[in-house]
Amino acid sequence: MDKSTRSLLDLKGKVPFLGLTGGIGSGKSSVASFLAKRGAWVIDTDQIAHQISAAGGIAVDLIQSQFGPEFILPDGSLNRAKMREYVFKDTESKRKLEAITHPLIRQETILQAENGLENHAPYLVFVVPLLLESGTWTENLDHIAVVDCEEEIQIRRVMERSQLDRQEVLGIMAHQASRAERLAIADTVIHNQGDLASLEVEVDRLHQKMLDL
Ligand code: ADP
Repeated sequence: MDKSTRSLLDLKGKVPFLGLTGGIGSGKSSVASFLAKRGAWVIDTDQIAHQISAAGGIAVDLIQSQFGPEFILPDGSLNRAKMREYVFKDTESKRKLEAITHPLIRQETILQAENGLENHAPYLVFVVPLLLESGTWTENLDHIAVVDCEEEIQIRRVMERSQLDRQEVLGIMAHQASRAERLAIADTVIHNQGDLASLEVEVDRLHQKMLDL
């Protein structure tokens, strides 16, 4: 089959597909690594997006030719901060960038899903930060888990782990679905208000649920 027309739907039905989402800093990566520790096969679309625009990544040449060399850092990777600022202000550029990156992310996601199936994973986990915002993702999934915590906790966690200040975190959050919108599509809500030990208890429950599907 032509690579560009392949779809995750073609792989569906063999093992359950879990979508894992949540706002920035809610704890998606933490949940994903706990699930991986329990034997789940994790495919992180955010990590894939980073890989394709890192030095030597498959999106870099296309981005350079369509946006200009000023968007590429001396080490050959995408200047993420510059691009973020640029597309925040201009929907048309955002669309142009996504026309390059989305098909490449989809292609790599499918490859990793195939690997998971070949490795007899009990279920596949797709970490998709903008699951709701990206429209058709939900039809690929058998179960949706939303990692949730209060917005103040999100802001604090992101500021602690990155160079971003409060205003910048709020700016990113403003471009994401609201907490209520995310909770409305959840089959399972993972509450991540407490410590990592309490989070692991929630993750255990989700893992068991996925094995029972
Ligand atoms: P996301 O992937 O949703 O952006 P992360 O899993 O990266 O969120 O979590 C954001 C930051 O907060 C990370 O540094 C992570 O280690 C930390 N973190 C997440 N959950 C907890 C928790 N329950 N207790 C303490 N730190 C946490």
